[in-house]
Formats: sequence, structure tokens, C-alpha cells
Amino acid sequence: MLCYNWNFSRGSFNILNPAAASFPIQSIINSKKNPIKLIPKQEIIRSSYSSSTANSSTRSKTAMEAVPNPQKPTFEFLTKKPYVPPSWASHLNPIPSHVFSLSHFPTPIHKWNLPNLPKGTEVYLKRDDLSGMQLSGNKVRKLEFLLADAVAHGADCIITIGGIQSNHCRATAVAAKYLNLDCYLILRTSKVLVDKDPGLTGNLLVERLVGAHIDLVSKEEYAKVGSVALTDVLKAKLLNEGRKPYVIPVGGSNSLGTWGYIEAVREIEEQLQDVKDEVVFDDIVVACGSGGTIAGLSVGSWLSDLKAKVHAYCVCDDPEYFYEYAQGLLDGLHAGVSSRDIVTIQNAKGLGYAMNTTEELKFVQEIAEASGVVLDPVYSGKAAFGMIRNMAENPKNWEGRRVLFIHTGGLLGLFDKTQELAPLVGNWRRMDIHESIPRKEGTGKMF
Ligand SMILES: *Cc1c(COP(=O)(O)O)cnc(C)c1O
Repeated sequence: MLCYNWNFSRGSFNILNPAAASFPIQSIINSKKNPIKLIPKQEIIRSSYSSSTANSSTRSKTAMEAVPNPQKPTFEFLTKKPYVPPSWASHLNPIPSHVFSLSHFPTPIHKWNLPNLPKGTEVYLKRDDLSGMQLSGNKVRKLEFLLADAVAHGADCIITIGGIQSNHCRATAVAAKYLNLDCYLILRTSKVLVDKDPGLTGNLLVERLVGAHIDLVSKEEYAKVGSVALTDVLKAKLLNEGRKPYVIPVGGSNSLGTWGYIEAVREIEEQLQDVKDEVVFDDIVVACGSGGTIAGLSVGSWLSDLKAKVHAYCVCDDPEYFYEYAQGLLDGLHAGVSSRDIVTIQNAKGLGYAMNTTEELKFVQEIAEASGVVLDPVYSGKAAFGMIRNMAENPKNWEGRRVLFIHTGGLLGLFDKTQELAPLVGNWRRMDIHESIPRKEGTGKMF
């Protein structure tokens, strides 16, 4: 048995000095401008936690293990380490034995200068869009546990499934390659496109660059056969070829993947401990698409000292479906709690999954222009849109509250919307250079 002492990276909690730009989110709200307070930049303090023992027989051949050295910082990225849950989650069952370090944690938290908020409401952003692994967003948190399990099972390839622009599939394809595993993706597209080259837009470009094998299915086939049976078919085929496939369900949302956001709660707690003045989040707001993120966040927030109310905005199916789905994930961990008691789910689907109204896209553009933060059109954009609308409709419910919005990533999905975004974006012009302007020597002369 080896003893490990893991040096965790810095807990940064920067409260940005918000430049109060003129903020045009009039497509949703029409209230008075809210003065924005300046908050001093807080000190960055190192945080660490340690774990106990590891069985050397569980080491994988593809995985590099971190060499424990309490004096020097370890090369922790891409290492597998024994997992020890936060004390408040230690009664959950089963507890993963290992976790793979695939991302850059902790992701920053900073103040988000949204305008027109209800009186005294402050919104902060947790930048899980900056989690690393080629813009993997929230999915990499789940993959840290799922891929550790795949490696423990001796897998040589990963199978997963999702929509044609699935961020989860792209994150899985990239992470699998980092671990020297093959990746097989089943992607859902429209009937008219299912026999055609899917192209290289957004997530597809990255998936195809890293050499993921792509099987296309139509929406109709997906609805008729179901994601589990579809992955079973591919699994049987690969087993038959002598491969050792490991199947990750839609969105990585099973009970094991749920640990990703239980860990995120520990991360948030540690970041809060690192700030000088006491900061408490009353609410957490997040998008929901397959349910794993909200299950982890809500059970974590409930069990830990965070005790923030979790508000989910679902972008497909309906709230009823997700209360049930999250319940299954919680039951799978023997959490002994009802999903309805720890999370509130509202519908933000709009026209349908991965479909946008002009109003939603305009909102994404306005937020980008005003705050520099680019939301994705499928998840975080719809969740923020739902949150701001809810705040405008029921300001009393939000007054004086401190809200943490989790930016779950998805930037590459925006490339699938360039046509719809074209009329909404900034202008351009041919630069006007008068013939009489003399050239200055000493600067780059390309031709
Ligand atoms: C998958 C995804 C979500 C939703 O997370 P789930 O755990 O699937 O509910 C939110 N935002 C982005 C960008 C995603 O890719």
C-alpha cells in the first residue's frame, strides 16, 4: 500500500472590478439601471486536501500515476489518484475508488456585471467553461470519474452517444485520446442528413481531428430504439471484434458521473473559505440537459455547508422528467433524499433542444458585448435567459440575494448558429487609407 499526499492547485476567487458598461439587454428587461458596487480584489490562498491509500494492483497501463512528493508540486494533470470524498458525502454509496485528473481546477469564480438586476441582487459566475480539455465545460468533471472507471475495467475504447453537436461526445472523444483510448460516437441527426458527411462544424471538427469513429443515426431511429439499445448494438459489435468497450451514457449522467458535481461543491466551498470576507451564495443557477450536473450540485449543496438553493433550467424534455431522472441518480447513491426537496427545475426549452428564438440569440450577443462572457446557445444561454426573465418577472424573489451561475461551457456549439447570428453581430468596414500616407520604415513589410 502506498500513501499519497495530493497537493491541490490554487483556490482562486477573483472578484473582478466590473466596468459598468452600458447594458442593452432590453430585449428582456426594461427596468432601471442598477448601480454596480466595486468590490476589491481578494487574496488568493492555497488550498489542499489529502487522500489515504491506494492499491497498486489497480494501476492502469495507460495511466501515469502521480508521484507523491510533499516538497515539490506534482505533475498532477493526467494522473489517476485514489478518491476520497468530502466528509459530508462519505455516507453515499457507492464511492468511486479513483479519479483521473483531466482538467484545470478550481475554475475561477468572479462577479458578473449583469445590468438591471433586482435590488441588491449580485450574480457571480463559476467558470466551468474554462475547465480545460479543449473547452470541455461541465462534462470533464464527470469524465474524471467515468474514465477512471473505464481504465480500471481495462477498457481499450469508449462508446458514447448524443446529439450531432453534443459537447459531451466531443469532451469524451478528446479525453479518451489523452488516455490512449479509442472513441466511438453515435450521433443523432436529422433524417435528411443521416446518410451525408456530417461536416466539420463546431464540435464535429474537434471529434474528427482526434479521430473519433462516428456512427450517425436519425432522430426517428434514436426515438424508436433508444440510446441504451443503440450503444448496446455498437458494444456487441466491438466485443465481437475482440475489443474491450466501455459505455458512457448520454451526457455522462449516471450515478458515478454525478460525483463530478459533488466534487464541484467541495471546490466552491474551498474557494469560499479562501476569501477574506465571508461570502455566502444563496442560490445556484445552472442549465440542465441530461440531469447529472443538477443531481451532483443539489445533493452536494444540501449535504455540505453550502446550503444554496439550486435552480435548474432544462433545455429539453420537461421538469417532471428531470425530477424523476435526478431521483434515479440520487437513489443510485443511496442519498435518501427527494430530488424535489433539493432542486427546483424550470423549463427553458423554448422552441426545442438546440433550437433558438431570435430573442435568445440576441440575448447571447448582448451578454457577450456587455460583459465579454460568451454563453452557448443550447445550454447556458437558455439558462441565463430563463434566469434573467424570472428575475424581471419576480424581482421580489431575488432581491438582496447572492447568486452563483454555473457557466457549463459549450462554446463550440455556437459555430452551428453562425447563420442565425450573422444579422446580430458587430459591423465591419474596409479600412480607409489615403494614398498620401507615407510608409514608416522598420515595421513589418510582408510582400
Ligand atoms: C451537457 C451540458 C449541460 C447540461 O448538463 P447535464 O449534466 O447534461 O444536465 C449544460 N451545459 C453544457 C454546455 C453542456 O454541454
